[in-house]
Amino acid sequence: MIGRITLKRAIKQTAGRAAVLAKLFTWPSVCPKACIFFYHRIADAGFVDPRLDDWNVPPSVFDQQIRALAAFAEFVPLLELPHRLRISGGSAKPLVCLTFDDGYANFYTQALPILNRYRAPATAFVVTSLIGQKEPLPFDSWSQKNRSRVPPEAWRSMDWTDLEACVASGLVTIGAHSHSHLKGRECTQTQLIEEAEESRAILRSRLGEAQARAYAYPYGSTRLGQVSPDYARTVRTAGYELAVTTDLGLARADTDPYLLPRIEAHALDTPSVLHAKTVGALAPYYLTDHLRTVKRAL
Ligand SMILES: [Zn+2]
Repeated sequence: MIGRITLKRAIKQTAGRAAVLAKLFTWPSVCPKACIFFYHRIADAGFVDPRLDDWNVPPSVFDQQIRALAAFAEFVPLLELPHRLRISGGSAKPLVCLTFDDGYANFYTQALPILNRYRAPATAFVVTSLIGQKEPLPFDSWSQKNRSRVPPEAWRSMDWTDLEACVASGLVTIGAHSHSHLKGRECTQTQLIEEAEESRAILRSRLGEAQARAYAYPYGSTRLGQVSPDYARTVRTAGYELAVTTDLGLARADTDPYLLPRIEAHALDTPSVLHAKTVGALAPYYLTDHLRTVKRAL
């Protein structure tokens, strides 16, 4: 029987091909829009677990992806995006932001050298209670199951020294991915406040105000109830300037800065697929995203 992950990968690949076709019918936008990509691990496990999502993008694939994006897009630091979208005229090239969730050490060891090669700015979202964690992250089932098959760098989190080195690169901004990576839909209001305020206080005290301005909601879907209006309000009240979800779409000048959509950059994404995503040829992905919602609702 075909494995769940094999099927998901086949669906993603098919959606990618369909997006490349859809791009032919996508009119260039007159108002500026931006594609905020999200990654997790930049690691090459050398195998695909048929049962669990791995969120791995091998460094060689990542290099190809960033090289392709550098050729046809303009990289913008996430925190500058709202301003860039507001100024008239925009850019001749699609605007792209790069984000990385969960704070894996391979962001520092694998992704940063490649980002540096193409001078691509990025935001790394870290879970403040798990910084320097020497065990697989408690919510990371793939790492817990496969830790003995891959080097620790594939799953351990960055420590404070890694984070300081990232900031010193001048390319990386740190943001919060909550304090404990709780599911928003299961949190009380008190827990939401703690997730937002505690993470910001820790980042401010250890790295400074500049590294405590952006927030990424864990599990980040408004459609699946992980990001509620209360959660967004709490993040704003805590003092963050913007927050990103995992809702599918491009960001525009009138997008709520506390509900910025993002698009996954997958290991299977070729340069053509990435280009289709950056210009908003997203119809096939809206379909697969909707199916995901239906399945989870059952
Ligand atoms: Zn996460």
